[in-house]
Amino acid sequence: MTDTKIQLSEKDIPTKWYNILADLPRPLDPPLHPGTKEPIGPDDLAPLFPMGLIEQEVSTERWISIPEEVLDIYALFRPSPLFRAHRLEAALGTPAKIYYKYEGVSPAGSHKPNTAIAQAYYNKAEGIKRLASETGAGQWGSALSLACNYFDLECMIYMVKVSYEQKPYRRSLMEVWGATVTPSPSNLTEYGRKVLEADPDSMGSLGMAISEAVEDAASKSDTNYALGSVLNHVLLHQTVIGLETKKQLEIAGDYPDVIVGCCGGGSNLGGLAFPFLADKFAGKELRVVAVEPKACPTLTEGECRYDFGDSAGMTPLVNMYTLGHDFIPAGIHAGGLRYHGDSAIISNLYKDGLIEAVACHQNPVFEAALTFARSEGTVPAPESAHAIKVAIDEALKAKETGESKTILFGLSGHGYFDLSAYDAYLAGKLVDYDYAKEPK
Ligand SMILES: *Cc1c(COP(=O)(O)O)cnc(C)c1O
Repeated sequence: MTDTKIQLSEKDIPTKWYNILADLPRPLDPPLHPGTKEPIGPDDLAPLFPMGLIEQEVSTERWISIPEEVLDIYALFRPSPLFRAHRLEAALGTPAKIYYKYEGVSPAGSHKPNTAIAQAYYNKAEGIKRLASETGAGQWGSALSLACNYFDLECMIYMVKVSYEQKPYRRSLMEVWGATVTPSPSNLTEYGRKVLEADPDSMGSLGMAISEAVEDAASKSDTNYALGSVLNHVLLHQTVIGLETKKQLEIAGDYPDVIVGCCGGGSNLGGLAFPFLADKFAGKELRVVAVEPKACPTLTEGECRYDFGDSAGMTPLVNMYTLGHDFIPAGIHAGGLRYHGDSAIISNLYKDGLIEAVACHQNPVFEAALTFARSEGTVPAPESAHAIKVAIDEALKAKETGESKTILFGLSGHGYFDLSAYDAYLAGKLVDYDYAKEPK
């Protein structure tokens, strides 16, 4: 039996992020100004982001050095472990080898601190005092609160109201790390007041919360905005996941035939897969599968076109797969996968057939989560469970055909703040929603 847990030491933390923009077979289309519809320049982004991040957003340098201060904080929880899922393989009776990279070891319980810490660092370095952002399920909000606390920045979080009410412990966590949290739509912004006037009972959406946070940041000179997924620099920061995994698989003497990741905006999938996709561009055979919810099937049922990142239409237009910036997905429990758009890089790769996508209903996803929890032990985040579902399907296919293959999936976070969702599943109360249709 090979090792169960493949651990690296602190000196193996990557010192550079991998920038896939250096190797993309087809370059990205430029983001456009929301007013003029002309390609934007660095100055257009300056009211919201520090130059250090704007430079990364457009850089085509293959390797970008990780600052010492960021590495020092990464060392609190990185390198994260890679597991060989021996017990899951046995439970499935599959000849396939299954590996998972576990990002739930960060203090916030997901991969999101990898970028939150870098973003807080670059903002602090340029004299910013306060960051404003949105959060859906609370994962990004807690990661940013953690990061702001490390760098002594104030943190203002607009939390989608439905989550604010359903997930009080994520809010507690943000407050423990010193953040201010308000339910969104709120009466703190002009946009929030407009939404509340039209619908006082609005439960909010990620698009609305983004609009509020962007308005907050744009209207105060000491405040910047931070986004937890989708943007090129976010996916860049997440490549520490895949870079570590490559080293760990080398130690195990293995290489994946298929990489599976859940996809909300694309950051954990991109972070895990991009360093391997570099090999695919150089001729290596490899499949990468993005898994999304049927209730928000951006890649599988959306259109690839220019669209806004927020509901109000304040952000630049990005050429991406989208369900429309005013689309409000059904209230599935994988809150982190309820976004109408997708990363421009992920969209480009999907359009060119370099990655695949699958959409799943939440009941089979939770069934897979239980299979995982009852074999490996860790209770996965509902988002991550989407990746588990498809990794299990791949392993069962291998069982049918007798094919030996190596499956790698991203376990992007743990589900210990999502136990009410598990309660609902165990009580048979979860509804499977189809895109744009009424509940079954
Ligand atoms: C936010 C989140 C996701 C989805 O975001 P991506 O940018 O697509 O990775 C997935 N898993 C967890 C645990 C999350 O917190």
